[in-house]
Amino acid sequence: MDFLMKRMKLTSQRQVLTGTLLITLISVASPVSVFMVVLSFFNMESAAYWLIIGISAAIPLLIAPPIALIALSLLRMISETIEKVDAVVRRDPLTGVSTRAFFLEQVREHLANGGAFLMIDADHFKSINDTDGHDVGDAVLRRIAEIMSLSMDHAPGRALIGRLGGEEFGVFLEKANEEQAALFAAAVGSAIRLKAQKIPGCESAVTVSIGVAVHAAGDRLEQTMKRADVALYQAKNAGRDRFILSGSAQDVPARLPQSKAG
Ligand code: GH3
Ligand code: MG
Ligand code: MG
Repeated sequence: MDFLMKRMKLTSQRQVLTGTLLITLISVASPVSVFMVVLSFFNMESAAYWLIIGISAAIPLLIAPPIALIALSLLRMISETIEKVDAVVRRDPLTGVSTRAFFLEQVREHLANGGAFLMIDADHFKSINDTDGHDVGDAVLRRIAEIMSLSMDHAPGRALIGRLGGEEFGVFLEKANEEQAALFAAAVGSAIRLKAQKIPGCESAVTVSIGVAVHAAGDRLEQTMKRADVALYQAKNAGRDRFILSGSAQDVPARLPQSKAG
C-alpha cells in the first residue's frame, strides 16, 4: 500500500489534467475499437455502423472526463495531505533536523553496515533558559543543530542526525569505527564551543557533552543507544564540554582543530 501511494503521488494540476486526458482517451478508444471489430462481422449499412460507433464514443466522452477529473483531484488532495503529514512527522519544527522517530527509523535502515552512535546533549541548558530566556534557548538549539548539520559534511561516510528530545540530539555515523567517531565527536564539540557563541541575547557559554558508542554486530540499536547514554552521563560527571567513548577509560576533552567540523 505504501509502495502504491508513493507511486501514485499526484502533486500538480498538470498531472491531474494529463491523467484526465489519458483516462478519457482510453475510455473512448476501448469501446470504439471493440465495436469496430464486432461490427466488421456484420454486413451493416454505413449510417447504422457510424451511429453505433458515434454513440460508443459519445457516452464515455461525456462521462469519463468529469469522473476522472474529480477522482484525480481527490487523489491529488490526499497526496498533498500525506506529504504535509509526512513532513511534520519527519522534521523537527524548531531545529529542522529529523524527529526522533524518523531518525531512529533511518538509523535502523543503515544499522546492518555498522557504525557509531553519538548522543549529544547541551550543557546546563536549563540555566541558559533561566538566565537568558526561553526564546534564546530556542535560538541556541537551532544554532547547535545548524552547526551539527554542517559538520555532517565532514563525517567519514553517511551521517544521520535527529533531535532525540529537548536539548538532546543523536548522530549516527554509518560504518564509522571508534577512531573516526572520536574524531568526529571532538570536532563537533569544538565547533559548537567556538561557533555557537554570539547568539543575540545569549550571555551563557554554549557547550555540549557527547557519549559515543560503536555499534557491535548482533547488538540491538537500543543496546548501543544505552551505551552512548551511559558514556554521555560519564561526560557530564567528568565536567561536561567533552566526549566519552563507551567502553574506554578515555576522557578526551573535545578540543580538536576547527577545520575538522567545518
Ligand atoms: P545538563 O548539563 O546536565 O544536561 O543540564 P541541563 O540543564 O542541560 O539539563 P536539564 O535536563 O536539567 O534541563 C534541560 C532543559 O531543557 C529543561 C527544559 O525546559 C529545556 N528544554 C527542553 N526542550 C526545550 C526547547 O525546545 N526549547 C527550550 N528553550 N528549552 C527546552
Ligand atoms: Mg543538557
Ligand atoms: Mg538532556
